[in-house]
Amino acid sequence: MESNTLIRKVHMNCPLCDKTHEVEERKRIASTIIKGKEVAYEERYYFCANAEEDENEFETGAMTNQNLLNARNAYRIQMGLLTSDEIVDIRECYGLSQVDLAKLLGWGEATISRYESKAIQDEAYDIMLRLIKDNPLQALELLKKNADKFSLSKRLEIRAKIVENLDSYGKEFLSRQTFAGEYANFEEPSDSNGFTVLNIDKIEAIISYMAEKVNNLYKVKLMKMLWYGDALAFAENGCAMSGLVYRHEAMGALPIGHYSLMNLERLNVQEEMGYNYDTMLHIYPITDIDYSVLSDNEKSILDKVIVKFSDYKAKDIVEYMHEEKAYTQTSSGEIIPFSLAKEIRTF
Ligand SMILES: [Zn+2]
Repeated sequence: MESNTLIRKVHMNCPLCDKTHEVEERKRIASTIIKGKEVAYEERYYFCANAEEDENEFETGAMTNQNLLNARNAYRIQMGLLTSDEIVDIRECYGLSQVDLAKLLGWGEATISRYESKAIQDEAYDIMLRLIKDNPLQALELLKKNADKFSLSKRLEIRAKIVENLDSYGKEFLSRQTFAGEYANFEEPSDSNGFTVLNIDKIEAIISYMAEKVNNLYKVKLMKMLWYGDALAFAENGCAMSGLVYRHEAMGALPIGHYSLMNLERLNVQEEMGYNYDTMLHIYPITDIDYSVLSDNEKSILDKVIVKFSDYKAKDIVEYMHEEKAYTQTSSGEIIPFSLAKEIRTF
């Protein structure tokens, strides 16, 4: 607690020695107890060099408020609750006043104002706020439910703003919801998912990573490469990478929900006309993707799969996969267990 940092020197009327002189504005990491938890937070204060030790610090009212806010936000972060800034962001993305957001959620009019300034929200309130943060459809539902709390013109104004949000990040969220919904039966680690639960961030990174290093990557080949990546990870580490569950299909292993997988909003998939006027899905890297979700070990596994198959045509990799035990020992439509997948031929 001893270390502190000088922020700046201010000429001001010092309440400690009752003179106007230069005092130092400082900050340090302080600790306090909130709801029974010890919380570390940034505290600001003024320091007077003329006053006696132990009585040489003071705070203005504004500083005290900011310090309390910092402490409460530190508590929120520690407890996984939205911070006051995040609550402001949610409100602003819907263009709502504090009172209007409270009304939309069916709460007392002063609730949001309290959460943005002093009180810490209960978990139930936090969950409600997160619902509308991630899903504009939820906000639309709430607007219907609490319609009588708004004037018609206000309601239309809020509605337009929600629809605007639906068009942007709502699409990405909904495409993920649809895909994740196909994995409702696989929420527990098991032999079907290689003891890894579905991780969409990672799947997007894996696909983009492969697309960066493989020229002309199309869906059929990608599906096989995903399976080989997971199978190899399982063989080496005892757990798969992506959480995808694969079925035995005519063209080899195919992940459950592969249509909605290809529809994930963030993926860079372009429809191209193939032979016989078939639509082919060409997969490109995602711009600005964060590969930090992949560990070095996972990247090295992906690199092995990429080196092995980069020159294979779709037909070649399908034929290659057809020889795997995972394929010969399962029948059409069956889920390919990872206990069989780990017996892939050596790379
Ligand atoms: Zn002083």
